[in-house]
Amino acid sequence: MDILLNPKRHDRRYPDARSLEVMRKTIEFFETKGKTKLKADYHANVWYADFLDFVRREKVFATMCTPAGYGASDARWDTSRICEFAEILGFYGLQYWYTWQVSVLGLGPIWMSGNEEVKQRAARLLDEGGIFAFGLSEQAHGADIYSTDMVVTPVDEGRYSASGRKYYIGNGNQAAIVSTFGKLTGSDDYVFFAADSAHPKYTCVQNVVASQNYVSEFALDAYPLTEADILHKGRAAWDAALNTVNIGKYNLGWASIGMCTHSLYEAITHAHNRRLYNMRVTDFAHVKRMFVDAYSRLVAMKLFALRACDYMRSASAEDRRYLLYNPMVKMKVTTEGERVMNLMWDVIAAKGFERSTYFSQAAMDIRGLPKLEGTVHVNIALIVKFMPNFFFAAVELPAVPKRDDAANDDFLFNQGPAKGLSSIRFHDYRLALAAWDLPNVRVFGEQVEVFRTLLATAAPDEEQMRDIDFVLAGGELFALVVYAQLILENARIHEIEDGVVDQIFDFLVRDFSEFALGLHNKPSSSAEQMQLATQMIRKPVRDERRYDAVWQRVLSLDGAYEMNP
Ligand SMILES: Cc1cc2nc3c(=O)[nH]c(=O)nc-3n(C[C@H](O)[C@H](O)[C@H](O)COP(=O)(O)OP(=O)(O)OC[C@H]3O[C@@H](n4cnc5c(N)ncnc54)[C@H](O)[C@@H]3O)c2cc1C
Repeated sequence: MDILLNPKRHDRRYPDARSLEVMRKTIEFFETKGKTKLKADYHANVWYADFLDFVRREKVFATMCTPAGYGASDARWDTSRICEFAEILGFYGLQYWYTWQVSVLGLGPIWMSGNEEVKQRAARLLDEGGIFAFGLSEQAHGADIYSTDMVVTPVDEGRYSASGRKYYIGNGNQAAIVSTFGKLTGSDDYVFFAADSAHPKYTCVQNVVASQNYVSEFALDAYPLTEADILHKGRAAWDAALNTVNIGKYNLGWASIGMCTHSLYEAITHAHNRRLYNMRVTDFAHVKRMFVDAYSRLVAMKLFALRACDYMRSASAEDRRYLLYNPMVKMKVTTEGERVMNLMWDVIAAKGFERSTYFSQAAMDIRGLPKLEGTVHVNIALIVKFMPNFFFAAVELPAVPKRDDAANDDFLFNQGPAKGLSSIRFHDYRLALAAWDLPNVRVFGEQVEVFRTLLATAAPDEEQMRDIDFVLAGGELFALVVYAQLILENARIHEIEDGVVDQIFDFLVRDFSEFALGLHNKPSSSAEQMQLATQMIRKPVRDERRYDAVWQRVLSLDGAYEMNP
């Protein structure tokens, strides 16, 4: 069975009937809506009231986003089904994914709070079909959330007044609860509180983007709060902001996977049936190469993101490896998604502009994912903290199994202080590499060994460590090692054919070489670093039979899925 989603053959097994029902009904909603209407709404920037009506009617967000114990018996926070839901939404359009995604973010500080009253209110609102918002960003501060200008001033015992503006806040026009981040006046303490977008002291100023999404600027002007509206204060508010983003950023990878998958069906079906010079477009050698690359990159994206889910669901205060894998889903999977779209767009060219295609919207929208909820740079700067322990202090840890059971992911809302990253320990990445006897896995392993030698013998000096541009170049190489490791772990679990795995490593070897060249060319790289970087540049092992077998898999997707008109 192909690992890629095909809504027309949705035969995945779930541990309960309701999960299957949610996925099938969501697919049915979009297929009934049809591509013509989907695209017409997209181009006219129509607010997706029909989708939100469907969500309300079928209690979809209530099932997916209410932790066990707060809603119906089949409601739970279950990352394994959330992945697929996010993938399906992305498959039909990033706009539908977005209104759900910012609801997830808005719910984060609520479910992490000890404020039972707001939690019960959120559960009721979800059941009634409400959407939510996450009010963190401000216009002037971007990633620098230390500088928040939203102020919460104590008025008298248990009463406060909030004033300030937020910018780029999805769903800020209609959210039943806007989880808003600010600072307590007269202290350096942060605070998270629940605001209601329908309150007279809440002004939705504007939609700052031209899209179906409502990405609001909103203002609070002496908005009255009581203790019952406060979700977190002090360190807990800061932790809730970061821990919520830890959960939410993971979903960006799934949006990307869904978008690439739908686009792949359109692209291969178009290219294979288009004839030029009395031959098929897919007969061109370079077209085959681009498709084989796009396909193997997409399978790799999915294998990595699925495996990260296992670690997320098995996380605990003692096992926080997910804090490395999550940002990777965010930054690596989404950048790979852009690359996959670029490859396919180079093949289908003019067709990718046509308003009737899903491709034309995906090609535009996919570019947002690496940039939002922390740019690629922010996420690489984050993961380099893990490098010393990852390479030089591996420990034996219990193997994490595939996690598609019907558990509630309790730990995600109880992640504890968002600190101590550099003390997190990892299992040895070399175990995954050693478990595969494939030519390109071997070459990749050799490249990684040279990188490890560089880190041990020609590590960046103090000045290079202060130069984020230099650090990012090394971070890209590190990210690729983590990416490869989880792909290999999951390829076994999902019984991916050797040929596909080796083809994945064909591009990983090339990417490693590219990043090694990038490191080599950094202005401050030393002679020793340059010499080792040169040794990291390797050519993948060619195998025509393997390549042709993967190409046949891509070709089998011709006509395999077409959205209802
Ligand atoms: C469509 C859309 C929807 C959004 N939805 C929401 C939402 O619902 N809720 C919400 O709160 N926010 C939302 N945002 C805000 C989004 O998360 C911000 O764009 C993001 O926080 C980054 O801020 P910025 O784009 O202003 O970049 P800036 O913070 O201005 O960054 C500029 C540059 O500095 C670099 N940089 C910054 N910090 C670091 C660092 N520590 N290390 C390395 N490099 C760094 C960045 O990589 C970037 O290249 C949304 C934005 C958009 C466009």
